[in-house]
Amino acid sequence: MNAFVNCPMENETSIWLQNLVCGHSGLIIKVKQPVFCGSSPFQKVEVFDTYRFGITLCLGGTVVLTERDYEPYHEMMVHPAMVAHPHPKRVCIIGGGDGGCLKEVLKYESVERVVVVEIDSLVKETIENYMPCFADGFGDPRAEVVIGDGYDYFKETNESFDAIFVDSYDPGGPVRSLETADFFSRVAAAAGEDGIVVVQTDSPILRADTVRRTIANVSAVFRQYKPYICTLRSFPEGVCSFLIASNSVIGIDGINRERCEEVAGTCEYYNEEMHAGAFLLPQGIKMSLNC
Ligand code: SAM
Repeated sequence: MNAFVNCPMENETSIWLQNLVCGHSGLIIKVKQPVFCGSSPFQKVEVFDTYRFGITLCLGGTVVLTERDYEPYHEMMVHPAMVAHPHPKRVCIIGGGDGGCLKEVLKYESVERVVVVEIDSLVKETIENYMPCFADGFGDPRAEVVIGDGYDYFKETNESFDAIFVDSYDPGGPVRSLETADFFSRVAAAAGEDGIVVVQTDSPILRADTVRRTIANVSAVFRQYKPYICTLRSFPEGVCSFLIASNSVIGIDGINRERCEEVAGTCEYYNEEMHAGAFLLPQGIKMSLNC
């Protein structure tokens, strides 16, 4: 394999973002120009304009959101649950400060209220200032943004929700409270008998141990649960996993064809085939997750 020297084209920068796996392989993204660099009490928050992925948000040095592959992640996190639930009205998004899940949830006319709980106000401010295409939902009258710890929120709220999205996977991130069994028992209480929950569980290859731990916590409080995956160009190994769960008799991977087609018309990645196919796991991942 020839090594190659990549000389920057005459008017290009030579700045690269890299998300490496164990320092041996991974993703590198060439930067047009840095846009913002700040720090909160929780994490470093940076925004870069890049040649291939557009405007890119990094939290704690990790690429978490890009203009180019926003859709697979947020559409596949939100729509399987929203299409499986017969009539989602009240929704909660934990860690949704980047606005991506909120944007997708607000596509449903049945939704009357969405609570976004984000621990770091700088994330929401950065999105509003530098990635406004993801900030649309914050101004929607149905949306309420709570700046705080998702764990504390569920400790204090008596509200129930039809769908709960835990979009805060952050290995070694600002606060580890969302990785506890107690957090998931509180989520189950807020979801009740018919609510559906989705947890983002990152790479099923690199983080299999975390996925297994999340499955153990979720399976202790929900009768039904299933992992599913999507491809994601901005992840170092290209695959992102999610865990969907519910106590209801509704098939958590059930597809309401009419509603699926309706929302698929507004999507880039999600449709009925991708919904059904997402639950078909490669043998190695099935074995690794014992599912
Ligand atoms: N869309 C991102 C991705 O592709 O990985 C996921 C969102 S980002 C990695 C995680 C978000 O959750 C960040 O905005 C972070 O500030 C927030 N977060 C982390 N821990 C939290 C907690 N305990 N409560 C609420 N938000 C939290």
